[in-house]
Amino acid sequence: MTTAPVAVWWRTAIACRCPRCGVGKLFNGVLKVRPICAYCGLDLGAHDSGDGPASLVILLLGAIVVGLAFWVEFRFNPPLWVHILLWPLVITPLALLLMRPLKAGLIAQQYHHRASEMGL
Ligand SMILES: [Zn+2]
Repeated sequence: MTTAPVAVWWRTAIACRCPRCGVGKLFNGVLKVRPICAYCGLDLGAHDSGDGPASLVILLLGAIVVGLAFWVEFRFNPPLWVHILLWPLVITPLALLLMRPLKAGLIAQQYHHRASEMGL
C-alpha cells in the first residue's frame, strides 16, 4: 500500500476518483463502483449511494428541462411532436453526464462523514 494524498471531496467527485486518495478510479464501467481502490486499497464496496444520485439528477434536470420546455412552448409554439422528440434528446445525455459525478460526490461525502463505518 502506498501513502495516499488527502483528497478534497468535490475534486474527487468531479474526477470520479477514490474519496480517500483521489487517485484511484472509482468506477468500473459506467456506474458500477469498484470493490477496492487500486491505489490506496480503500474498500469502496462498503459505500452505497443508493438512489441518491438518481434523485438529484431528477430534481436538477426536472427543474431545468421543465423551464426550457415552457420557454420553447411559449416562444416558438411548436407542435407536440417537437417536444416528444426534443426533450429525450436533451435529458438522456445530461442525465448520463450528471450521474457519475453526483454518485462519486455522494460516495465521497459518505467516506468523509464515515457513514459506512456507522452501518448507514
Ligand atoms: Zn484510493
